[in-house]
Amino acid sequence: MTQCRNGMTTRGNTPVRILIAEDDLTSRTLLVSLLEKAGHEVIETRDGMEAWRILQMPDAPRLAILDWMMPEMDGIEVVRRVRATDTELPAFIIMLTCRDTKTDLIHALDSGADDYLIKPFDAGELRARMGVGIRIIQLQDALLQSREDMAYQATHDPLTGLPNRRAILERLERERERCARNGETLAIGMCDVDRFKAINDTYGHQTGDEVLCGISRMLRESVRSYDAVGRLGGEEFLIIAAMPTGARPYQLFDMLRRQLHQTPIVTRVGALPVTISIGVCVTARDSSLTEMLALADEALYEAKSQGRNRTVCKGGAPENLDDTSP
Ligand code: GH3
Ligand code: MG
Ligand code: MG
Ligand code: MG
Repeated sequence: MTQCRNGMTTRGNTPVRILIAEDDLTSRTLLVSLLEKAGHEVIETRDGMEAWRILQMPDAPRLAILDWMMPEMDGIEVVRRVRATDTELPAFIIMLTCRDTKTDLIHALDSGADDYLIKPFDAGELRARMGVGIRIIQLQDALLQSREDMAYQATHDPLTGLPNRRAILERLERERERCARNGETLAIGMCDVDRFKAINDTYGHQTGDEVLCGISRMLRESVRSYDAVGRLGGEEFLIIAAMPTGARPYQLFDMLRRQLHQTPIVTRVGALPVTISIGVCVTARDSSLTEMLALADEALYEAKSQGRNRTVCKGGAPENLDDTSP
């Protein structure tokens, strides 16, 4: 990064990977040497087909200088193909040629080139046009990054890092449809921390937050890799577990309850014993999302009224629904 006199910074010299496709040896050698001297990593080829192959690779260079006239495939065709490809990170393409009429320039830009350099080129002009390309690439990267950040924030709970209510319910709907198609059993467990208000009231909200994070971590680490855990809100979590017909969902959920019961959560005020109650709903083939959540909620309510630190199952085959006591 270069410091400008006005205090602003320019990233025109940031090293990038550049593809040079040019069949003329003198011109290619000059380009490679100038760009490498500027610190860039250069990939070179002398034909258009090879350039097209390189630009389709998963980590293709983001900046390309393509000669117009080349063996196998001309630069215009390479640009057209690249532009017809659906990608989030399009390459910045500079067309290089000795054709210098306005019609040629318009044709190159209309074909999808971002810029145009006429041979014999001036080293200063090459550097300046590369700077434009690098700035565009950096803007694209920043835009993509901020889109990814926003997508993450929209789907994750900031305190625990778990999928938030919207994301976990969307996942539940997808799992519900998938299990209905495959004939698998879908079980959900609505987990609520027992007497959590007392933890807040006794140790403060920050400690309460640590408890929520500790429970989230334990749940995430304890479920099977294909199960899902999300934070429904407050001190409530949802676990989604698909299983073959005949499996016993109760055991899976009660194992989590027992594990938490046996492992105090480490916080700033020491290790605190915490328990959860779990209301489990096992799908009937055609039950809706709302019906499933209502049934899980009903089971949770029962677990609470039976004394907390319990797993109660509803729905599904009777042999899967054995209740528990601590
Ligand atoms: P029960 O066993 O019946 O579930 O009792 P409970 O105390 O857990 O239930 P209650 O609904 O009375 O209290 C839940 C508390 O959770 C109240 C609320 O202030 C607290 N809470 C909700 N979200 C957060 C959070 O993000 N951080 C902290 N620290 N507390 C939270
Ligand atoms: Mg040529
Ligand atoms: Mg609650
Ligand atoms: Mg609670």
